[in-house]
Amino acid sequence: MMFRASVLTLYPEMFPGPLGLSLAGRALGGAWSLDTHFIRDFATDRHRTVDDTPAGGGPGMVMKADVLARAIDHASPEGDPRPRLYMSPRGRPLTQGFVRELAAGPGAVILCGRFEGVDERLIAARGLTEVSIGDYVLSGGELAALVLLDAVVRLLPGVMGHAESGTEESFETGLLEYPHYTRPQVFEGLTIPEILVSGDHARIARWRRAEAERITRERRPDLWAKREG
Ligand code: SAH
Repeated sequence: MMFRASVLTLYPEMFPGPLGLSLAGRALGGAWSLDTHFIRDFATDRHRTVDDTPAGGGPGMVMKADVLARAIDHASPEGDPRPRLYMSPRGRPLTQGFVRELAAGPGAVILCGRFEGVDERLIAARGLTEVSIGDYVLSGGELAALVLLDAVVRLLPGVMGHAESGTEESFETGLLEYPHYTRPQVFEGLTIPEILVSGDHARIARWRRAEAERITRERRPDLWAKREG
């Protein structure tokens, strides 16, 4: 089954962008598909207006509910089983668990905001789930959508070379990942930990586990506590 992504944006030329390269790029048209919809095409006035001043005053502009509703109804007609997402700093935090949920589904319809965001009424009227990629404010939802899709696409069957390399990583185990090394054996006077060249796979596994735990405890006490709890 193909994961189908539909993106609604004022900047369709930002897609597939980096997702046209490397792993995601090679899988585009195979494991996943992408269609973009130019929001301005759904404006009806002569100036193709997509935004207006905020009710109640204040700075910035708000994206119009009627224009966005037409764009969504076009990209995702009734009966479309895909979740409808609105990239938004107020949204549900994008975590690896959430990414896995999305990757297991049929795809996603993703609305990218600009300016101050969208008319609140659109969110309820079209059943949008707000999704945040972190506690900072971007100038638009496009980069957030690219981040979400990158994280999802690499989990789709057949996209990553090693089936394993998806399951051992940071967050998948509740821990941050252990450190990696590769040749040369000595780099600027620093050597690869002896144990990794010992060939003793059980000891190596124990060492990696201990390192992952140490790093998680030191850097992310919040993750460590959640794991224990
Ligand atoms: N006025 C809004 C910010 C608007 S930023 C507020 O204060 O909450 C413009 C657009 O960028 C948003 O509509 C959203 O689509 C996107 N965006 C900004 N930060 C984001 C984040 N952390 N995660 C996901 N999308 C974000």
